[in-house]
Amino acid sequence: RFGGGVRPPERYALPGVKHVVAVASGKGGVGKSTVAANLALALSREGAKVGLLDADLYGPSQAKMFGLEGMRLKVDQDRRILPLEAHGIKVLSIANIVPPGQALAWRGPILHGTLKQFLQDVNWGELDYLVVDLPPGTGDVQLSLSQLTQVSGGVIVTTPQEVALIDAERAADMFRKLQVPVLGVLENMSAFLCPHCGKPTPIFGEGGGRRLAERLKTRFLGEIPLTLALRESGDRGVPVLAQDPEGLEAQAFLKAAREL
Ligand code: ADP
Repeated sequence: RFGGGVRPPERYALPGVKHVVAVASGKGGVGKSTVAANLALALSREGAKVGLLDADLYGPSQAKMFGLEGMRLKVDQDRRILPLEAHGIKVLSIANIVPPGQALAWRGPILHGTLKQFLQDVNWGELDYLVVDLPPGTGDVQLSLSQLTQVSGGVIVTTPQEVALIDAERAADMFRKLQVPVLGVLENMSAFLCPHCGKPTPIFGEGGGRRLAERLKTRFLGEIPLTLALRESGDRGVPVLAQDPEGLEAQAFLKAAREL
């Protein structure tokens, strides 16, 4: 799967986990968490065993996206955390530990310790992919993740807008500095698809993701449209790929997952 010269790691910091795939964005609000959730589901639809780690510790959204808000985590007999499970994905989010609405004011070392626990003190079982939803930008969590485990590759999520592309380029540069292979660029909110007439409107511009992939000499993984169904599914707590597996949004995510 990881063609293009990317070798799977020789040493697994996480027993049982074959590949750690990090999903990053230069800035917030571009749909990184939505993409991470649906990419995880798409990989699982392809037959892989998949976990999703919500490492966006200051703005966790995966518990909500998977309808797991308010659920408590349990531990196994070795006192390792058991991730929750929804739609066949093992999901771990800080939102299931820290009550919602409570702000975290943590410095780097505490973030590092928390991430370490999330990776190493969790009973992930056997996984083909652990998808990690990183916080936006380039910061402590990104650094810690690359120190704590061998990341097989990183996916860059961007909208087509020029301002988003500049930040996305920074996220790609961070992966390079951390020696994490960039698997490709996935463009989100590519064009608004009208639910009435189906006409596409490129609200945030056109072709930006593809241009960025060219500039970074990496692969373009595809375009995810801006649709009402995607926004609603996020709010409802059922990822669009689980809600409407035949829909065009699901097809776009499946295509991107196959490109990885
Ligand atoms: P980020 O993780 O980058 O901050 P989110 O995934 O939380 O972004 O998305 C921000 C908001 O935009 C959410 O309400 C989400 O449902 C919505 N959203 C994301 N991608 C799309 C899309 N392609 N179409 C419609 N809404 C989207």
